[in-house]
Amino acid sequence: MNFSGGIAVKIKALNGFKDIIPGEVELWLKVEQTARNIFNRFNFSEIRMPILEKTDLFSRSIGEATDIVEKEMYTFVDKQITMRPEATASLLRAYIQHGLYVQKPIQRLFTIGPMFRHERPQKGRLRQFHQMDVEVLGSANPRVDTELMAMGAMLLEELGIDVSLELNSLGCPECRPGFRKTLLTFIDDRRDELCDDCKRRSTSNPLRVLDCKNPRCREQVEEAPSILDHLCGSCGEHFSSVQKGLQDINVVYSLNKFMVRGLDYYTRTTFEFITADLGSQAAVGAGGRYDGLVETLGGPKTPGIGFALGMERLVLLLQQKELETESTGCDMFVAGLGEKAIDFAFPLVHALRQMGLQAAMDHEGRSLKSQMKQANKLQSGYVLIVGESELEQGQAVLRNMETQEQQDVKISDATDTFARSLQEKCTLRIS
Ligand SMILES: [Zn+2]
Ligand SMILES: [Zn+2]
Repeated sequence: MNFSGGIAVKIKALNGFKDIIPGEVELWLKVEQTARNIFNRFNFSEIRMPILEKTDLFSRSIGEATDIVEKEMYTFVDKQITMRPEATASLLRAYIQHGLYVQKPIQRLFTIGPMFRHERPQKGRLRQFHQMDVEVLGSANPRVDTELMAMGAMLLEELGIDVSLELNSLGCPECRPGFRKTLLTFIDDRRDELCDDCKRRSTSNPLRVLDCKNPRCREQVEEAPSILDHLCGSCGEHFSSVQKGLQDINVVYSLNKFMVRGLDYYTRTTFEFITADLGSQAAVGAGGRYDGLVETLGGPKTPGIGFALGMERLVLLLQQKELETESTGCDMFVAGLGEKAIDFAFPLVHALRQMGLQAAMDHEGRSLKSQMKQANKLQSGYVLIVGESELEQGQAVLRNMETQEQQDVKISDATDTFARSLQEKCTLRIS
């Protein structure tokens, strides 16, 4: 440390990067635990990929002409490596590299972790943000599309988050070019009314005009043709099956012809989970099919579908509900009074922890009153009060914090027998 005369300057986290501190982290855990539980119910396996990848991976999979690749990636130019801006590309890279398709013809994978985009930080938009990402590789079956959406809906419902599911199809390389042409003709007649972004991108990617947020553009595309009227036979059939599947298991959805994707690799089914509880309509999750992507990345021809949920938004929605986070209270606080008692408490607390109980003590030799305060803060079920004179007589006082009852207990055979009987008294969390 450098104290050259003055007070050292505080170092803060980078703009757009955020700590998740105690008090907040409980909600993150709730989101992650609920998700893991549900992904498990649907037979998904976890996969973890590195954060750094070759830049090519993302420019090839996400597409050169996207905001992400054009201006939002954290790229180390000298090394041609990039911090992942999303998870799908890395997951597919790992899938191909390890030949996971050989082990299992259909892989169901999920991953949870941080992603990085160099956007201007603003409320709700961080440079390091977190996603839960789910992918099914190796099946073109519309039932899988249905199942994925049902899983997302189930997760959000269990978290108590209100969303509506919106659905569209983006067709395939066979039928999309035809629709593109029709749409381009429609847009050409209205080009002068569009925003600059739309004017620029309308020729290269006219579909993007459909999801422009500018109210004037929205008005212009209100009457735009729907891709759903231009699907080829097999895309139409696929989309009907997806919808029938959702109806069969009572997953409510609505069609949204304006939903397109900024990423080039999406085909057929595309969907979003939308909440109205964040001020305006906002997506908490989005996904879709990408039947050509594995091949684009040098793997075998493999259909795929997936979705990602933004964890910051989920946590924000939980915070708004001011959920009482279930705190896992401490089983036993050992209050030692005096040095000898503290010396006795330390191995006892350790033994309790080894038995799977949550135990705590004070190392600083504070007063009984102050230790009882700590025990309360930790929501301890029991407090064992050990004074030096009691210790000499082999006695201690056990206080049930809920009923306020106290009893004298023997501590002669403290650690083992005593801890075991305690284990029965305390709420057990050993599974
Ligand atoms: Zn098609
Ligand atoms: Zn626009």
